[in-house]
Amino acid sequence: MKPYSVLVACQLPEAVERDLASALDVDFMPDARQRPVAELVARLDGRDALLLLAMTPADAALIEALPASVKAIATYSVGLDHIDLAAARKRGIAVLHTPDVLTDAVAETALLLLLGAARRATESIDLVRSGAWQGWTPTQLIGVELSGKTLGILGMGRIGRGIAERARAFGMTICYHNRSALPPDLAKGAVHHADAVEFLGAIDALAIACPLTEATRGFLDAERIAAMKPGAIVVNIARGPVIDDDALIAALQSGHVRAAGLDVFTNEPKLDPRYLNLGNAFLLPHIGSSTVESRRAMGRTLIDGFAALAAGRNPDNRVV
Ligand code: NAP
Repeated sequence: MKPYSVLVACQLPEAVERDLASALDVDFMPDARQRPVAELVARLDGRDALLLLAMTPADAALIEALPASVKAIATYSVGLDHIDLAAARKRGIAVLHTPDVLTDAVAETALLLLLGAARRATESIDLVRSGAWQGWTPTQLIGVELSGKTLGILGMGRIGRGIAERARAFGMTICYHNRSALPPDLAKGAVHHADAVEFLGAIDALAIACPLTEATRGFLDAERIAAMKPGAIVVNIARGPVIDDDALIAALQSGHVRAAGLDVFTNEPKLDPRYLNLGNAFLLPHIGSSTVESRRAMGRTLIDGFAALAAGRNPDNRVV
């Protein structure tokens, strides 16, 4: 059988590129984001699929311009907010992503963010690295513990449940806000709040793990932050635009939100510069799924998906 022919419109870790090259007929275009769209479209002529990153928008204009040979778009991410799924559906183009294999890495990052925010990691690191540290005192950099607190998870899906599992081990009680309540075997005792404001008022820390959609864009705005307990913590491993930056920055400045741990930002990598001046903001450069294990597994998931499509089967990681 002729191997699936894929244009890889991004640079991937070497091991992943090797895996792709050994399983597929690949053409690598690592600078695709810097090239005109017309060039990308021309390179796709005769190819079965386009592989791209979450940073590369596949909007309706691009999807409509794709050559007739293109049967699939695969994203090296689980998030799909950069792809116009309706446009893909309309053209009969399959969309593949990388669910499950990055869940552990991202859930671990969420715990890193929670701990970094609760224990004042930014200020602590600055103190040591600046050389200004004068030694241990009982008054320096007093944070709060996670143990005994209630964690609210916005988006109790694969990653949300991974965060819940780890947070339970830290002695936290879990509640969540999804559009639908989970069956008991998945909820594992976590309490569902159908109402967002009631949910936010019940928690000590919020972990955002929902997809970015029109319904979740700007979810955490000034009104909802006001509904949170004074001194609550906010963590975001989902997508930046789920948070209204003006509202969160004002709450971090006033202390109504004690601290935030953020892996994702609106307009990455040009995040709102006001975050950089906030000692109570613990910031990471979108490293949620960035582990040796998940990077390799994400590539393999896409390879398996292409193999299924080539064999006329429906891959598990197909969303459209
Ligand atoms: P998932 O399994 O599909 O879970 C998403 C959850 O969000 C579901 O439980 C869903 O429940 C809930 N949800 C959807 N719309 C909602 C709404 N309007 N209000 C409240 N809850 C809503 O996805 P996942 O694999 O956990 O991934 C979640 C997101 O994490 C991805 O979409 C991606 O953007 C982000 N992510 C970030 C990184 C990173 O590097 N930082 C890495 C991977 C993923 P209902 O359908 O019941 O509402």
